[in-house]
Amino acid sequence: MAKIAFIGLGNMGGPMAANLAKAQHHVTAFDLSSTAVEAAVEKGAHKAASAAEAVKGAEIVVTMLPAGRHVREVYEKDILPHAAKGTLLIDCSTIDVDSARHVGALAEKAALEMVDAPVSGGVGGASAGTLTFMVGGSDAAVAKARPVLEKMGKNIVHTGAMGAGQAAKICNNMILGITMLGVSEGFLLGKRLGLDVQKLFDVVSTSSGSCWAVNNYLPVPGPVPSSPANRDYQAGFTADNMLKDLKLAQQAAQTSGASTPLGAEAAQLFNLFVNAGNGGKDFSGIIRMLDGK
Ligand code: NAD
Repeated sequence: MAKIAFIGLGNMGGPMAANLAKAQHHVTAFDLSSTAVEAAVEKGAHKAASAAEAVKGAEIVVTMLPAGRHVREVYEKDILPHAAKGTLLIDCSTIDVDSARHVGALAEKAALEMVDAPVSGGVGGASAGTLTFMVGGSDAAVAKARPVLEKMGKNIVHTGAMGAGQAAKICNNMILGITMLGVSEGFLLGKRLGLDVQKLFDVVSTSSGSCWAVNNYLPVPGPVPSSPANRDYQAGFTADNMLKDLKLAQQAAQTSGASTPLGAEAAQLFNLFVNAGNGGKDFSGIIRMLDGK
């Protein structure tokens, strides 16, 4: 099995690294948080004292970091100077397309293969190994990454050249931000019209309003037991992360000349929600703000 360095062991990276160790890969793990490293070691990974130490001797390096600046820094300081010839680099973080292309170009200059492979499916999908990966890179690099990604996910879609994974990811999450607001408004209107939540769910989930935000992540308690609405909007997927992705989508819309008025509105509403102190809450909790709470 492969020698894999895993850098960034947070809510997502922790369970993803655990799945690689469970699949008998030799995983060397690093995070700035020693608690996160210890948790990974308990799940079968080996501890590294630094990112550079994890990278030395690795055949594959996986990163799962918060944002573009973290990825640039770790690539420039720790990965590219220490990766051996032939190492495959896989960045699973959700970051801006420009940063993805920047580190991709640096990797190419260093003659290292790289893919950007952001994910969808949340912490539940990371733990269950059922994530969807959106992968950008050359055919050869993606073919090399696929068996490793298959230990962490169920759907692996090659979306194009380096950076195309991030592009697909922000399109998806812009749709999610907009649909969550639409579903919230629909269910709030239903409440004011005196409709029973379960009855409205029974109709919408089998009608043309049906979508992931209704069927799997309903922002109202009751009909979907696994949705964060049933546990006081404990994340799940934080409002901070949704706002980050909506801003990335707006940035990309501006540079590419796409018209995304609903995406812009969604970014403004989530900005209000986060600024009111809800950044750590699940993003579906925005229904409470729309309800005037
Ligand atoms: P997180 O904040 O829980 O984890 C990030 C980890 O990176 C932290 O443990 C942090 O200590 C570590 N880190 C930061 N800088 C570092 C450095 N220089 N060296 C080593 N470690 C460093 O975040 P998360 O929820 O795991 O998300 C990670 C990425 O996945 C983000 O880009 C996020 O947008 C994306 N994502 C998250 C979800 C989700 O539901 N949480 C879903 C899909 C995608």
